[in-house]
Amino acid sequence: MKPPPFDYHGPATLDEALGVLAETGPDGKVLAGGQSLIPLLNMRLAAPAHIVDINRLPGLDVIEAGPGGVRVGALARHAAVERSAAAAAVQPLLGQALRLVAHPVIRNRGTVVGSLVHADPSAEMPAVLALLGGSVRLARRGGEREVPAEEFFTGPMESALLPGEMAVSAFFPALPGRSGTAFRELARRHGDYAMAGVAAAVTLDDDFRIAAARVACVSVGPVPVVVDVTAACGPRPAASVDWDAVAAAVLDRIEPEADIHATAEYRRHLTGVLAVRALRDAAREASEDPEASDASEASGASDGEEGA
Ligand SMILES: Cc1cc2nc3c(=O)[nH]c(=O)nc-3n(C[C@H](O)[C@H](O)[C@H](O)COP(=O)(O)OP(=O)(O)OC[C@H]3O[C@@H](n4cnc5c(N)ncnc54)[C@H](O)[C@@H]3O)c2cc1C
Repeated sequence: MKPPPFDYHGPATLDEALGVLAETGPDGKVLAGGQSLIPLLNMRLAAPAHIVDINRLPGLDVIEAGPGGVRVGALARHAAVERSAAAAAVQPLLGQALRLVAHPVIRNRGTVVGSLVHADPSAEMPAVLALLGGSVRLARRGGEREVPAEEFFTGPMESALLPGEMAVSAFFPALPGRSGTAFRELARRHGDYAMAGVAAAVTLDDDFRIAAARVACVSVGPVPVVVDVTAACGPRPAASVDWDAVAAAVLDRIEPEADIHATAEYRRHLTGVLAVRALRDAAREASEDPEASDASEASGASDGEEGA
């Protein structure tokens, strides 16, 4: 199908873009990578009267990595962030998650910030932002505001973005020393949206005991579901954790729904398995002690692909 008719705007500056968005209000939609918006238009699931193409705006493709975290501009493509060594050094979860987003050709064009605004509960980047407690910077004519992740995702495909606003960047905080991260998911075909997926972050103390642990689950609720499992995990070394109890703590917090890809019960099962795998991967990454990681491997907790 072809998209419904719309007026196309190709602003050359941020001010110009914000001006058009202010004038068009709820009838205006930003076009970034187009990897979600164009299919929605072609399927006639969206019919904005005005499209504001931001691809000509200068300075929005930045990836700024500093000690506190990584700020990603609205035109930084998935692939650029995935390949950024500076970003990976500060926040490795970005690359770990982006490798699971769609296919390379889509990652070449799609943007990280576009993925956040699109707010698909099956998408990886909203879960990453929610897990890390990041934020999105929204600009409008005459001002801007920084919205924390827990307020940004308001429902399936719904965010705190108001008519007239544009997201200009997102901030992904760094984790403290001796932290590790991981992203595990299962999709029917490589590159598809996941039936279930879990991002995990673990911080160890000086004795290699788990001092903080949390997960963000995708495809099991209207927004990414963040669960703090520190109490269930610690303070113990990963090898001594009761991983069944940790999985139960995660499952307590999710309410998956069935669709054509998976039953609700299968999604629950997957989430429990993936949460344990992701947390154990993250604990292993957090550990700089090879013996600690060996001990973790020998703990007997299930960590193979079998059983999913
Ligand atoms: C076949 C296929 C498979 C895919 N698989 C996955 C997957 O497994 N995981 C995943 O996470 N994604 C997947 N995607 C989606 C892809 O990651 C998109 O790139 C992403 O969701 C949106 O980014 P975009 O830059 O293309 O946004 P666009 O398509 O341009 O826009 C998406 C929405 O966000 C709004 N928007 C975008 N940028 C801004 C901004 N700066 N300010 C305000 N509003 C903005 C648009 O108005 C629109 O409503 C897939 C896409 C395809 C086509």
